[in-house]
Amino acid sequence: MSTVFKIQQLTKFYGPIHALNNVSIDIPKGSIFGLLGPNGSGKTTMLGIIMNITIATSGTVLFNDTPLTADGRKKIGTLLETPNFYHYLSAYDNLKITATIKGIKNPDIDGVLKQVNLYERRFSKFQTFSLGMKQRLAIATCLLGDPEVMIFDEPTNGLDPVGINEIRNLIKSLAKNGKTIVMASHLLDEVEKVCTHVAILKKGNLLVQGGINQIMNQDDMIELNASNHDLLLETVRQIPHYIKHEITDNGNIMVYVKQGTVDTEGINQLCFKNGIVLNTLSLKTESLENIFIGLTS
Ligand code: ADP
Ligand code: MG
Repeated sequence: MSTVFKIQQLTKFYGPIHALNNVSIDIPKGSIFGLLGPNGSGKTTMLGIIMNITIATSGTVLFNDTPLTADGRKKIGTLLETPNFYHYLSAYDNLKITATIKGIKNPDIDGVLKQVNLYERRFSKFQTFSLGMKQRLAIATCLLGDPEVMIFDEPTNGLDPVGINEIRNLIKSLAKNGKTIVMASHLLDEVEKVCTHVAILKKGNLLVQGGINQIMNQDDMIELNASNHDLLLETVRQIPHYIKHEITDNGNIMVYVKQGTVDTEGINQLCFKNGIVLNTLSLKTESLENIFIGLTS
């Protein structure tokens, strides 16, 4: 997989504030890359530096293996702030005006409206749109120049659940059509549902980066319990590929085993052979939230 953005040892100070600390990230072509972290962790700063809007204190960013040029910039559509629309004009006219302002010759306005699923409503006034539709129109402005990469900062901020869902589906469909998408978000759930890759920032430090499956499925977990708790505790160590166990809040035993090795029937048999009748046996998958809490606490 080739790399669209190669971010190398990026550091940013705003006066005394250390916003980014030696962060290196590779953003693969064709990915939906989630830049995840609590408010103030440096996400917007990072996006600003990528787009040459913010000047890094040190470090470099390569776009398709070269420093970002004016030509390269045309291949990137960004939504870092909400664009201004004319409330009394239609979606179509608003896009026409934006295309003129951006200097885009022969914009495919109909095609862009179709991509964001607003074609049927193209002649409706902006002021009649729902929040989700307004945000889709904002994304449409980024699509006007047919960019190969799109950069969104908190794209679902301020939307209701319906709007959030519309934007998620739109982002997935854009990626399916070959665009690389970089999005900053402080919402774990959002990144987990949409992104193929993730980098987690905390106070300007990179905690982890990689494919979402790689990050989420480090180990498999099985939750077990039986009335003979002590005997079960001894037995779990005999489970094939056992790594460790923990006691959960509700008193169950969470057993970690090597990824892809869980055999629930085998575990049941092993326990039964040792005189244990399980009253709980369930396979768990790690949520990004657990990983995030584990990393940041
Ligand atoms: P995020 O987008 O993850 O919420 P930001 O990149 O906006 O984080 O901010 C990272 C840190 O840098 C924060 O401590 C923030 O207050 C600070 N910061 C951001 N922009 C500026 C600025 N223009 N001047 C001074 N400090 C800033
Ligand atoms: Mg931000």
